[in-house]
Amino acid sequence: MSIYSVRDDLKEAKLVIALTGAGVSVESGIPDFRSPGGIWEKFPPEEYGTIEAFRAAPERFWKFYLELARTFAAAKPNVAHTALARLESMGVLHHVITQNVDGLHEAAGSRSVIKLHGSPDALVCLACGARREERIAALGGPPRCECGAIMKPDVVLFNEELSRAEIESAQELAAKCDVCLVIGTSASVHPATTIPEIAFKRGAILCEINREATSLTHTGRVRRFLQGSAGPLLGRLVELLEKDGVGLSRETRSP
Ligand code: NAD
Ligand code: ZN
Repeated sequence: MSIYSVRDDLKEAKLVIALTGAGVSVESGIPDFRSPGGIWEKFPPEEYGTIEAFRAAPERFWKFYLELARTFAAAKPNVAHTALARLESMGVLHHVITQNVDGLHEAAGSRSVIKLHGSPDALVCLACGARREERIAALGGPPRCECGAIMKPDVVLFNEELSRAEIESAQELAAKCDVCLVIGTSASVHPATTIPEIAFKRGAILCEINREATSLTHTGRVRRFLQGSAGPLLGRLVELLEKDGVGLSRETRSP
């Protein structure tokens, strides 16, 4: 499936959304669940990343989460993030819907970002409901609430409910979009999986960018599948669109 078809889809579409996952941050040095070695081998996510693990042993949970937060804090946006921000400023892409909690889309300059799984630098108390902004990577140990309880990072852990408002606004956009890019996600974590599903039912073009085929690819609903790394592929898409004068004002656009 050629990248030129995706360029043309993007030029024709009125509303374009991008669902992103851990794969877009791999080139920034944050491993996804499939990357060998690294943090997920030391702290298997199904053992450390669940709400049950936090409730049962918050101190043990924080050993894992502080290391993850430091990995996030040390990471810089890569070409995939900057290309998505550029597509937004060109008027080609309208909203990013991300499952990531590393803050790299915003750091790259994306403005409309729906964060399905929460923010990197906030804490919430499950005992009294208090919430506060805090640079988590700078914490020396488990953060305490004024009520005495150990606080939880304000991100959605496994087996935890997503914020209704976030998923609903993402689903509303999916029901209206013309193109839905699905980038660097195994597209297997519910309810993020509903985004491409809703977009497909609405008749939007599903365009998947991934190093490998996923469960979404296997549904047969993906019209364009670009196999490879998100950075180079999105960077190339930006180049092709810029070459066609997309994003330039009428006066400066070449004939
Ligand atoms: P996942 O780990 O299940 O899947 C990542 C996908 O990205 C895979 O399909 C892989 O083939 C693909 N991929 C890897 N490198 C790529 C690249 N350079 N270019 C294109 N594709 C690439 O991730 P998921 O689907 O996002 O689900 C995991 C959950 O864990 C999410 O809910 C997410 O919030 C969380 N998580 C977040 C981060 C982060 O914030 N950076 C990192 C790990 C996990
Ligand atoms: Zn509290």
